[in-house]
Amino acid sequence: MKPVYLDNNATTMVAPEVVAEMLPFLSEYYGNPSSMHTFGGHVGTKLKEARSAIAGVLGCQPDELIFTSCGSEGDNTAVLSALAAQPDKRHIVTTRVEHPAILSLAKHLEEKDYEVTYLGVDEKGRLSLDELGQAIRKDTAIVSIMYANNETGVIFPLPEIAALCKARGVLLHTDAVQAVGKIAIDLSKLPVDMLVLSGHKLHAPKGVGVLYVRKGTPFRPFLIGGHQERGRRAGTENTAGIIALAKAMTMAKEHMAEENTRVRALRDRLEAGILAAVPHAQINGDTEHRLPNTTSIAFKFVEGEAILLMLDQYGICASSGSACTSGSLEPSHVLRAMGVPFTYAHGSIRFSLSRYTTEADVDLVLEKLPGIIETLRRMSPFREEDAAKPACTC
Ligand SMILES: *Cc1c(COP(=O)(O)O)cnc(C)c1O
Repeated sequence: MKPVYLDNNATTMVAPEVVAEMLPFLSEYYGNPSSMHTFGGHVGTKLKEARSAIAGVLGCQPDELIFTSCGSEGDNTAVLSALAAQPDKRHIVTTRVEHPAILSLAKHLEEKDYEVTYLGVDEKGRLSLDELGQAIRKDTAIVSIMYANNETGVIFPLPEIAALCKARGVLLHTDAVQAVGKIAIDLSKLPVDMLVLSGHKLHAPKGVGVLYVRKGTPFRPFLIGGHQERGRRAGTENTAGIIALAKAMTMAKEHMAEENTRVRALRDRLEAGILAAVPHAQINGDTEHRLPNTTSIAFKFVEGEAILLMLDQYGICASSGSACTSGSLEPSHVLRAMGVPFTYAHGSIRFSLSRYTTEADVDLVLEKLPGIIETLRRMSPFREEDAAKPACTC
């Protein structure tokens, strides 16, 4: 059975055009791009073209790109590089709503005696630029702030954040994994020092990503070995993956405006339909500055995991956001940072759409979800008196 796949912020289907583009580099053209022979050289040429195409989409120079294995690698490398390159600076600024690729790393660095300031967000998931300005210190090695949130879709004002960091002379890294492919990014105008993206979030395969490092930014490699990526990331290149990523990014750029309009309309219809049919439901996050494909909806007095299990019976794939301790009753760190009340945060579901989402997919959710919520509420362990409880902490 083909799933009704509404979990595209977790991962996406590889576009058929992308599969077609990469296949020859898994079968026929398997040479090493660094080899001296023509056979390998052919792959090297294709790799160079892919690098240029991706640089073109992002508005940067080809040699400012370092290919990685995933978003997590890019995020880790960016932060660790900034720390290694500025050993006298031991302070990091980030936010409470980052992906674990940054948050878990930050916690790990705190154990190694680095100091981390975690910026909070308001009830709509918005950041305060004043607070950011106050958090930056003389010994701040790097500011790491995501472009768009994977759970709520809330978009942070990166141009303003970048201008502020530039004025204060502090390095800025952005986890743009959810933004690339959905928001037009022009690095010739956006003054971030490092930016990270991941192929599998934009219809390229898993196992390929990019760390952009602006020319002049101090850099210390994470993987040490061969001379690949100009000595900045050792390891034989994931040639098929990189060629696939170039195709996926070119497609995303070409179709972005038209796809976003269509996807946004589907998302809005899904959201409005759910809110109209289900009482005690609300949207999590700033609906004005939000990715067009994402909605995080809170259903009072139900358990998010229970909703997911029941949706799953109809082949509908959604997500409850990342639980901080699996098996526990704690809601996601993002919703807690926003202060979403206990009884709402527990019953939060994320639907994330893509260019492959259809009207029929949305219709099926609208047909099944209201009954699911009603059934669950009838057997809910939560009661009105719980509503008074503050958002829990863990
Ligand atoms: C998925 C995701 C990541 C991690 O990317 P991987 O390629 O899975 O390592 C990082 N940040 C955000 C915002 C993401 O959505």
